[in-house]
Amino acid sequence: MSAISIREVAPRDGLQNEEPVPADSKVQLIDALGGTGVRRIEAVSFVHPRAIPQMADADEVWARVTKRPDIRYSALIPNTRGAQRAIAAGFREIEVVVSASDTHNRRNLNRSTEESLDDITGLIPLVHEAGATLEVIVATSFGCPFEGDIDPDRVAGIVARVRADGADRIAFGDTTGMATPRRVRDLLSAVRPDLLHFHNTRGTGLANILTALDLGVTEFDASVGGIGGCPYAPGASGNVATEEVVHMLHDMGLDTGIDLDALIEVAESAEKLLGKQLPSGVLRAGPRTRTV
Ligand code: ZN
Repeated sequence: MSAISIREVAPRDGLQNEEPVPADSKVQLIDALGGTGVRRIEAVSFVHPRAIPQMADADEVWARVTKRPDIRYSALIPNTRGAQRAIAAGFREIEVVVSASDTHNRRNLNRSTEESLDDITGLIPLVHEAGATLEVIVATSFGCPFEGDIDPDRVAGIVARVRADGADRIAFGDTTGMATPRRVRDLLSAVRPDLLHFHNTRGTGLANILTALDLGVTEFDASVGGIGGCPYAPGASGNVATEEVVHMLHDMGLDTGIDLDALIEVAESAEKLLGKQLPSGVLRAGPRTRTV
């Protein structure tokens, strides 16, 4: 069976967009995900606690997580200061985010895309000297809630620059769920990422993944239960739900290494933790193999 690599992002991307939960619950979530067979987990982000209070306890959470040798854990950072904290915490996989949209970058990181790129140029050697790798996530790659459509050439220009600077990996983020299969084809014919991060804000998440699979992409982010809303569309779904992605891939004969039933159990406990219904069809209905 062909292998598809899923990175579970609920502990970071997911929880960052929900009401704050205690450190205990975060540790439990990460450890529970570690028991599902998933091989990559985005665990925390090192951001200023005033900017994102949900991640203020990143050091404490990470210190208490059971680190499994078969899992690649990663941390997201916004800047050089964050990279220093991630390195000090022992992370070997670091992700930095920059928005293709200048307006979104200013809203998210308080500076221009160009200034973020300059910062990335400086922090790549720092990350490499620590023996870690740096992934650059290009947010709003498929569209921006402030600027609208994003020209694929602009994304390609950012990718060319950070690759020249020595970035190890590239991801494209559909930060507010503006991608459609057509736009996935348009962007990927201009420039290829290593990994794709889709949101299901407008219901096109799985269709986009299917399109990207056709184009040869084999690495995707997903969030158990679809945890994580959309900061610019109150009430809307956020990340694609991991169990929906895994459910579809396994039925296509594509291996993820993930135990779907175990994953659904984690989604059920995440729903209890957050005290609200999570936007996942497979969580509601169960897998298609479950008969009544
Ligand atoms: Zn996301």
